Amino acid sequence: MLLAAALGLWWLLLAGAGFARSDVPPGFEAIDLSEINQLDRINLSPFLLFLPDDQSRTIDNLLRGEVAPWQLNKAGVTNFGQSNIPYWFVVQLNNLHQLRDPVYIRLNYPHIDRLDVYWVNDGRIIESYQLGDTVPFHRRPVDNRVYLFPVNDLKLTQAQLYLRVESQGPLEVPLDAITQSRFHEQDKLEMAWYGAYFGIMLAMFFYNLFIFILVRDFTYFYYLFYVLSTTALQFTLTGASFQYLWPQSVAMNNIMVLVLTAIMPLAAVAFVRSFLKLETERGINRLLGRVLLVAFVGVLASAFVLPYLLVLKIAHAISFVAVSFGVYLGVVYSIKGVRAARTFALAWLIYLVFILVYLLQITGRTQPNMISAHALEIGSVLELILLSLSFGHRVNEEKEMRIKAQDKALQVQEEVNQNLDQIVRQRTEELEVANRQLKELSIKDGLTGLYNRRHFDELLKTEYQRSFREKSTITVLMMDIDHFKKLNDRYGHQCGDECLRRFAQVVTDALRRPPDFVARYGGEEFVALLPGTDEAGGRVVAENIRAAVASITVEWEGQSITMTTSIGVASRVPSDRYDNESLLKTADANLYQAKAAGRNRVVHSSA
Ligand code: GH3
Ligand code: MG
Ligand code: MG
Repeated sequence: MLLAAALGLWWLLLAGAGFARSDVPPGFEAIDLSEINQLDRINLSPFLLFLPDDQSRTIDNLLRGEVAPWQLNKAGVTNFGQSNIPYWFVVQLNNLHQLRDPVYIRLNYPHIDRLDVYWVNDGRIIESYQLGDTVPFHRRPVDNRVYLFPVNDLKLTQAQLYLRVESQGPLEVPLDAITQSRFHEQDKLEMAWYGAYFGIMLAMFFYNLFIFILVRDFTYFYYLFYVLSTTALQFTLTGASFQYLWPQSVAMNNIMVLVLTAIMPLAAVAFVRSFLKLETERGINRLLGRVLLVAFVGVLASAFVLPYLLVLKIAHAISFVAVSFGVYLGVVYSIKGVRAARTFALAWLIYLVFILVYLLQITGRTQPNMISAHALEIGSVLELILLSLSFGHRVNEEKEMRIKAQDKALQVQEEVNQNLDQIVRQRTEELEVANRQLKELSIKDGLTGLYNRRHFDELLKTEYQRSFREKSTITVLMMDIDHFKKLNDRYGHQCGDECLRRFAQVVTDALRRPPDFVARYGGEEFVALLPGTDEAGGRVVAENIRAAVASITVEWEGQSITMTTSIGVASRVPSDRYDNESLLKTADANLYQAKAAGRNRVVHSSA
């Protein structure tokens, strides 16, 4: 506190002096550098005299006192905005011989295109360096990302330090004096910070690389691309790329800053489009995604033709739009119910905030501090971690959806199978019924429902052979309705049909033993087969039928119709298994006899 107050007071005094005499020759506001013995570090910015150089002045011009007016940087500003003209700075340092420890003058900013440094004593240049991004790295007096000028080696009591600074990008001149021990301490911390930062980035890169190799989801590829370009941009912005990757190649710095400044958001847009499947959408979101993609390709191309500062400004402006778009999409998709989009929105929001902090700083609206100096790094790490998380969410969500879809498919499949089963069963049953019906139809007589002649012939064969094996008697009855032609003629065919049906019913009722059966043999002729029934039994059955037929009346159109029937019966124990025909013939002959004998009677014989 005391220290700050003392410095503040001193600074006020100097500022006052500056106000009064803004055109003083350099060296007037001298700093007692030996104060550093107590302080370890002195901020030189408030003691700087500066001069925008729009007339290509040389150090000789300045030393001869040809130029004026110098202005005192009394507000201690370190950021001179984005300026295309070079700036001259000078600071008067006293009591250099009283320094206890080795001291650096430090210009704590790596991105200077051209930096000329002159140590002047008594109007003479003692030492000078030509530095900057456009000069090979090894020319620096101290091998570091930032510019360091050792004081002690000069062996002077007092000196002026002249700086000529030229940069197409933001012009920052944070100048201070710092003991070498303090510097190395800070540098170690800084290196630890960068180590952590790049460590995290590389870990994320490899982690997601393995996932990409496993799942082959192109979204991961874009994410990797994004992580890599972010890392590369940060590595370049810290000055480390120049120090380690291309120390000789002075043209690389500016172009790489531009290229990476374009590629990083390009990768981000590609990632977002893939992550949210924007291409499957219709409307404004897909369009904006495409426009941004094209815009960054344009920025990338323009990096090779347009002026540095212009490209940088365009890139920053579109990046700002792109990141805002990311936040917007995150919110929209969250509302749509995509859970992964919440983390996604948060990721871009946080990044947006840190980008704002960074933009405010590089455009000279705020002075650098620990956060703003590292804003892009902090923002990008947080963002990438959150994106990785939201990736996890998305994979989970997709898995859930897949499982749901599979369940649904399985259910549908089961239903289909069940229905199919049912249909097949139903159709089979129908087919069986139809087959049964067809079979019945083929063996039955349509009018009376009795078996037909064809079926009778088959059954007769079987039963005849059985009787032959069993040596049992088999009996056949041949029946013929008497004078049926007349009945037909008198009452009509329909009446005749009805009489046939009634006759069939009477015969069926008369045959009660299970193996017995009756068939319509043709016209008004019927035949009955009585397996295991002997001649006497056959005669009884025949007589029953005859009597039953005679006893019924058929009512037809108010008239009562009666019928009689003649029956020929034949019985035998077969002596030849295939001689069934002759049995029928015998029965038929007996029927003929019954007719001849006057009808309505039974004639039987055994043969
Ligand atoms: P008989 O006493 O000598 O047997 O005299 P019948 O008239 O019954 O003899 P015939 O065999 O000459 O006549 C059979 C008649 O039966 C001929 C036909 O008009 C009639 N008929 C045959 N099949 C059917 C039928 O399916 N329906 C009807 N309504 N009549 C039939
Ligand atoms: Mg007949
Ligand atoms: Mg007849």
